[in-house]
Amino acid sequence: MKAAYLTGHGGNEIVAVGERPQPVRRAGEVLVRLRAATVNRVDLYMRDSGAGITHTLPMIMGLDGAGVVEEIDADERMLRVGQQVLLHPGIACGRCEFCLRGEDTLCTSMHLLGEHRDGTFAELVSLPSRNVFPMPDGLSFGEAAALGVNHITAWRMLHGKARVKPWETVLIFGIGGGVSLAALQLAKLAGARALVTSRDPAKLERALALGADAAIDGRGDIVRQVMAATDGRGVDVVIENVGAAVWSAALKSLVRGGRLVVCGATTGDQPPADIRRIFIRQLQILGSTMGDLGEFRDLLSLVQRTGLKPVIDSEYALDDVHAALDRLESGSQFGKVVIRIGSGA
Ligand SMILES: [Zn+2]
Repeated sequence: MKAAYLTGHGGNEIVAVGERPQPVRRAGEVLVRLRAATVNRVDLYMRDSGAGITHTLPMIMGLDGAGVVEEIDADERMLRVGQQVLLHPGIACGRCEFCLRGEDTLCTSMHLLGEHRDGTFAELVSLPSRNVFPMPDGLSFGEAAALGVNHITAWRMLHGKARVKPWETVLIFGIGGGVSLAALQLAKLAGARALVTSRDPAKLERALALGADAAIDGRGDIVRQVMAATDGRGVDVVIENVGAAVWSAALKSLVRGGRLVVCGATTGDQPPADIRRIFIRQLQILGSTMGDLGEFRDLLSLVQRTGLKPVIDSEYALDDVHAALDRLESGSQFGKVVIRIGSGA
């Protein structure tokens, strides 16, 4: 089968597109014929280093994906051959102390598609049936694939961690990125007021058109603009993945007792901690990664009911995976960069 896979680490030239052996479906797994995947920042990380992530080469890239069920166990009751499905990329062990408590995202031997095992930039993938979900109606394969990393991550940040309320204000950094746009969509569906930041005025315009309540120009004084937009009060929740470049502004934008949820550190992960501000104002700093299967199910229920569609920036054929990775790396995208596979997204 055709796949895009890593042959080493350190730049686009080690990403190969070519034939890889077809995955062998084991009992309890579903073989899925993929039609679309999207590129995520972790794909760039795996391409460039992969340090700290146990994996073997060559390895097929790609975390999220959507496609059609090709083969399942004869006694599978929830899925059928030919059904359109999307994937949750996190395969937890089910046996460690965290899994036993229902905290799959803390699993000590979590295997993620495209990180620890072959991923979704391929014509076929095999994974446990519990990670395979029927596609909500009305979505393209590309839109469905986009839910599997960014929206589930934003869902856990807003609902699992911050527990955002309809009367609260949320500040979302770096609008244009996949998690940030997902957070904007989900914050609005939760009834909250949503402020967004970007250094790109065109991205702010597009975010306002998508329902953002106020735009904060990241080239200017972020805190001053946030205070002006909240009558000097500050926001209840910050959704953050930019890291060091905005950390101080993020903390100073919070109202007393506010919550900052962080899921990434694109610009660096060692900013000054500002500890005095954290304890005197009783701020909460909450780390978050991905989301569990129950949260994914809830997200898909909301998508089905509301017709939410992830924002798609662009689409590339699997053969053009290098251009897709470049597009994400450029930071100029607004929404998800989709990889079309087989007969397309
Ligand atoms: Zn576990």
